[in-house]
Amino acid sequence: MWEDLLAGLDPEQRAVAEAVEGPVVVWAGAGTGKTRAVTHRIAHAVHSGAHEARHGLAVTFTNRAAGEMRERLRGLGVEGMQARTFHSAALRQLRHFWPRAIGGSPADVLPRTAPLVAEACRRVGVAPDPAVVRDLAAEIAWAKQSQVPAAEYAVVAAHREPPTTHAETAAVYAAYDDLRWERGLIDFDDVLLLTVGILTDRPDILDEVRAAYRWFTVDEFQDVSPVQNRLLDLWLGDRDDLCVVGDPAQTIYSFAGATDRFLRDFPRRFPDATRISLVRAYRSTEPIIAMANRLMASGAGESVPLRSMQGPGPSPVIEAYADEPAEAAATARRLASWHDAGTPWREMAVLVRINAQMPVFEEALSDLGIPVVLRGGERFFDRGEVREAITRLRGAARAGEQQAEWIEEVRSILATMGFGAQPPRGSGAVRERWESLASLVSLAETMQAERPDDMSLRAFIDELDRRSESQHAPVADAVTLATVHAAKGLEWDAVCVPGLVEGTFPHSQSIASADAVGEERRLFYVAITRARRHLVVSWSRSRTPGGRGQRERSRFIAEAVAEGEVVSVDDSAHGASVTRARGRSRGARGGARGVPARCRTCGKALVTGPERARSRCRSCPSTASEDLMDRLRDWRLAKAHERGVPAYVVFTDATLEALAEARPDDDEGLLAISGIGPDKLARYGPDLLVLLAEAPDGA
Ligand code: ATP
Ligand code: MG
Repeated sequence: MWEDLLAGLDPEQRAVAEAVEGPVVVWAGAGTGKTRAVTHRIAHAVHSGAHEARHGLAVTFTNRAAGEMRERLRGLGVEGMQARTFHSAALRQLRHFWPRAIGGSPADVLPRTAPLVAEACRRVGVAPDPAVVRDLAAEIAWAKQSQVPAAEYAVVAAHREPPTTHAETAAVYAAYDDLRWERGLIDFDDVLLLTVGILTDRPDILDEVRAAYRWFTVDEFQDVSPVQNRLLDLWLGDRDDLCVVGDPAQTIYSFAGATDRFLRDFPRRFPDATRISLVRAYRSTEPIIAMANRLMASGAGESVPLRSMQGPGPSPVIEAYADEPAEAAATARRLASWHDAGTPWREMAVLVRINAQMPVFEEALSDLGIPVVLRGGERFFDRGEVREAITRLRGAARAGEQQAEWIEEVRSILATMGFGAQPPRGSGAVRERWESLASLVSLAETMQAERPDDMSLRAFIDELDRRSESQHAPVADAVTLATVHAAKGLEWDAVCVPGLVEGTFPHSQSIASADAVGEERRLFYVAITRARRHLVVSWSRSRTPGGRGQRERSRFIAEAVAEGEVVSVDDSAHGASVTRARGRSRGARGGARGVPARCRTCGKALVTGPERARSRCRSCPSTASEDLMDRLRDWRLAKAHERGVPAYVVFTDATLEALAEARPDDDEGLLAISGIGPDKLARYGPDLLVLLAEAPDGA
């Protein structure tokens, strides 16, 4: 019976599953079935009697991946096997041996280190600014994962850029550890360090652990940190029943101390290891794999090109937008159209580089009523600084008179929390905090621009409350909105990767160093290879509507898209142009539906995005009547009120102008207007047709 088990594997995967003894290293690209091969290997080892499930330990990096591994093993008839993250495996041992090794009952694990780091700052005279505290907490975590104690920090970490000076960081680190011990607490990283410490100091305990666990499997081994690798070595002892799988092209946790060194060195360390590489990519279709291969060819790594087993599929789409809200709105429409075509929400994901990108997408999805789950990021309205900002704004609204200059008031209240016109240098928590506050200010500005007559501080707070509530509705079948880091190992039918601008992806902090850009490239590789069938990569020129910031398209787009294959990538006021990564450009968004890419007045070919959105070249005057434009604007304002969204979410000026010029009288005519898709047609079509029909001729 267990022989059938291997029937669903290709020859190389089968070789992995059959190599049940001794060291094994599988080095292979994204979606080649590494996780599948090792779970089958475990099942095969157990069913063939080579190993006992109860003596096995399978380790991976996220709770979700560990849960999936347990599920898959159960599906393959394996009971009683431990599948855990490094952290949970260590914590289990630590708790068990604590009374004997340390005495008393196990210490509690600190859920958040920041409050104690803040206290440590005060103890050594470093100003405990919340954002600096968060960055210090991250730096201490890196040091612990890298097995760098406080006393050695200043020397060993001389190459790093800590949030304060090296000496201060080391002092805070030492004070933090003292405080922790005084209170009898441990943190997430101590769990690993202490387990390593106990197993190193106590041969009796080590023997017990080695008697319990005798064979090991590690997935995503490219992201192992020095302390995790040390723990693995202790578990293993002089045995060699260790199977590791990984992909150096997917090392994305270097910033937290991970390194692919251990994967690369594995054959040197175990010269008789069975070495297998997998090259058939089962997850993604040919066009997606072609894009991933091109991207990796641009990196310095020696990655082997992948071959897709999924055959042809839709070409990845590269889209450009004028601004982030337009990009987010289009992403939401795209998800809705996949859903209309039969893809369930849970088979879709929007993957972003940093948490700060999430709010605008949460917002756009909730505008279209799309259910969403967040991974790896805090909900915007759950962030400490956002809650604090709203509390402060509410206090001001209660205390003060209604002010006409309420935006100024918002700015000055947020200024007391660290908001300024320019973003702070670098990244990390200080930058994320600024980004959160900037999101609030730009929301205020947008609302004021769209509803100048009835906006006030109070109305703004009501709007924030409304949004916060709608984001907290629990959901089951939902689109995943996640950081790329949180998406590793996972897969979806359809994936959108927005925000491909220099400074975001690659991140501004990484641009100066080739190594750091390499890690960003690997992150982008992880992002695009999560998609089975549909992939959309997008970027926008400015952050806010009407913003002048000319952001540059990420270098990764040029690297991933074959030369000569992008015919045009340009933006428009709302509807974006769509450019196929392969094949012919379809021109402006509406162009795919037959909107002439020519000026409707003089017939000249249209070049820029805004021209296409208006279906009119720059030199021809608008034929829209002012009266009709006024009626359309009034109608838009009423709709925006009704739905509680900024007016540009209803329609942009360019779309209104195109409507007033073309005066469509049926659904098809409406759909031909750039900026009107099936959702907007369903939502606003009937209204618009009545409004346009009722407007006096020639008005
Ligand atoms: P990642 O690098 O992203 O972790 P991976 O190499 O671990 O990917 P898996 O997640 O194991 O890849 O497999 C990717 C997808 O391909 C899964 O849906 C899996 O079921 C499928 N797959 C893998 N091998 C085969 C095969 N031999 N036949 C059919 N489908 C396969
Ligand atoms: Mg995997």
